[in-house]
Amino acid sequence: MAERGVVLGAAGEVALEEIDVAQPGPGEVLVRVEATGVCHSDLHVIEEDGWHHPLPVLLGHEGAGTVVAVGDGVAGLAGGDRVVLGWKTACGECEQCRAGAPRQCLRPPAAAGRLHRHDGAELTPVLRTGTFATHTVVPEVAAVKVPRELPVEQACLIGCAVATGVMSVLETARVPAGARVAVIGCGAVGLSVIQGARIAGASEIRAIDLDERKLEQARHFGATDTEPGKADYVFDVVGRKQTFEQALGLVAPGGTVVLIGLSPAGEKAEIDLPKLFARRARILVSHGGDHLPQEDFPRLAQWALEGKLDLGSMVTRTAPLEGWSDAFAAMKEGSTIRTVLVP
Ligand SMILES: [Zn+2]
Ligand SMILES: [Zn+2]
Repeated sequence: MAERGVVLGAAGEVALEEIDVAQPGPGEVLVRVEATGVCHSDLHVIEEDGWHHPLPVLLGHEGAGTVVAVGDGVAGLAGGDRVVLGWKTACGECEQCRAGAPRQCLRPPAAAGRLHRHDGAELTPVLRTGTFATHTVVPEVAAVKVPRELPVEQACLIGCAVATGVMSVLETARVPAGARVAVIGCGAVGLSVIQGARIAGASEIRAIDLDERKLEQARHFGATDTEPGKADYVFDVVGRKQTFEQALGLVAPGGTVVLIGLSPAGEKAEIDLPKLFARRARILVSHGGDHLPQEDFPRLAQWALEGKLDLGSMVTRTAPLEGWSDAFAAMKEGSTIRTVLVP
């Protein structure tokens, strides 16, 4: 098989190249990747020289495809199953998992040693998935079966942006019906926060972004206002000093600020402590919306099929794997919600 993948070989060196994909080991599955969203975190991996992933790195972590082969002991999946790949899996054994908090698992399992460069060097798949590739191998728990009726280029978005955004509202913040919500940063994750707020029954959904095009899109997904204003729940999807301080400034008394966006290394924000105290505000960190793929992907897929969640409008365009570089350029330029690569 001539498998290919987009590899960060050394700092600043990214290329589409042939890779070697081994058969799945016990408890693992081999997946033919059919669609993968181009997420900001992959850019973060490139710009932060691997972002804790040992080089060389196989990029991509928002994928969906079809199971090709399963390893020994895999009972829940079979060849031909349509799956969405999840990165926020639970090991079942760590302190958090044993305490009944798998969403806070600190040791998500990986299928190590299955992916290699042509020269034999072991590839580290981004967030244990590595989806900018024709094939990848993941632990069984990271491949979640979804209905084939959901178009694969939409299904892949559930794997990161949609799970992160929607579950930040429903799981991390548990926004109640009638609450006022504000969202700073209206890319794919921010638009998913807006959709989550709509599903939660928020009374107001304020979209905040410097890019007028994104505000226009935000309205389509359910934003009711596009001017900054007080809110009970303020989601910072950007994670910069300026946006976090803006979020603190917008939170209503007794309200909650939720940090979702990945900040660059060393980023710091100032908090006016007396003001925070007087407002009795809470600050929460959303780690990917604290989602759990096995529990959340099936219902997100179901909501998409029912039309409760609009995934189709989030796919701006599709492109072959060769288009990875243009996809990053379009993302930086802000002209796309999501480019989905179809390997
Ligand atoms: Zn665990
Ligand atoms: Zn992502």
